[in-house]
Formats: sequence, structure tokens, C-alpha cells
Amino acid sequence: MNELRIRLSALSGLSTQLSVEVSQEDLRPEGATALDLAPVTVKGALEAVEDAYIFRGVVSGAFRGSCDRCLERAELPFALEVLWSFGDEVDGSSESDEKAFDTAPVAYSGDEIDLAPKAWEEIVLAAPAKVLCRSDCAGLCPECGRNLNAESCDCEVRAADEARANSGFADLADLFPELKKKTED
Ligand SMILES: [Zn+2]
Ligand SMILES: [Zn+2]
Repeated sequence: MNELRIRLSALSGLSTQLSVEVSQEDLRPEGATALDLAPVTVKGALEAVEDAYIFRGVVSGAFRGSCDRCLERAELPFALEVLWSFGDEVDGSSESDEKAFDTAPVAYSGDEIDLAPKAWEEIVLAAPAKVLCRSDCAGLCPECGRNLNAESCDCEVRAADEARANSGFADLADLFPELKKKTED
């Protein structure tokens, strides 16, 4: 059973607390592209407000993938604060109320509110275009392929030396030994 489906008739009182861990299979609509995701936690409270319901809470988990620079496995934790409203009917007459929400109320029918589609939507919107193991990941050396987070290499120094040699400065330095000596002092 999907614990993100809340039966309204079973609500005790005006508000119900919720803390559910689900896998993406519980969230992903049929046909939607799968994400590389750690288990997702949906935590918060569903509250009855006049003729609508409001869910306020946090959707948390982690995006997974291989680092865009060093190719190591990486996990990017996320914790998204959410505020969703669910309206029995969406007639657009109460515009002032709706401005408090970043999205229009989600229509629901019958005795059930399903939080899964909204949770999935938030996660997809927050998904990073690139995964980095850390913001300052040094990546792989393009020459020797070493992971520069773990070890260093002298490829860059050598490449710089070669570039200088190829640019003709080396010849100039040979022609003006005095100049070379000065810069080395
Ligand atoms: Zn990395
Ligand atoms: Zn290298």
C-alpha cells in the first residue's frame, strides 16, 4: 500500500502528521524517466482548511550519479521545503488565497489525496543537470587520467613547459641570456 495516499475520512481531527520513506517506484508516474535516487522521505502535516487541504513539509533524499568531473559515485542530498494545497474543486474565485502558494491547488476527487505526484514533481524540478562529488572536485587529469582529488601528477607543468617552448619564448630567452637571468632572480 502506498502510504502517501491519505484517506480523508480516516483523518483524525483537522490535521495529520506524516513521515514516510518511499522508493521512487512509489512516486514515479507510469512512463516517466527514472532518476538515480536514494530512498525519499516525505515528512510533514496535512491540514484541513475550510474546503481545502494543505500539506506543509519536507521532501528529502539524495540524487545519485557519477561525478561529472572525476567519475566517482556521488550522492547529493536534498531537503525541499514544500507547501501544497489540494482543492475539492478549482474555480479560481479565491485568487487572493492562492497567491500564498507557488502553485495552484491540485484538484482531488473522492476520499483520497495522493501526495506522490507532487513529491515526484518537486524532485524532478530539483534534479541537478550535473552531479559533482563536491563543488571543488579537481577531476581527472586529461593527460594521464589520474584522479586529482586523490593524487597529483606533473602533466600540467609539463604541458605548460611545452606550450612555452612551442610559442618561441624559449628561443627568445636563448637570444637574450641577460633577460632570462633577470627574470630568474
Ligand atoms: Zn568528483
Ligand atoms: Zn596527469
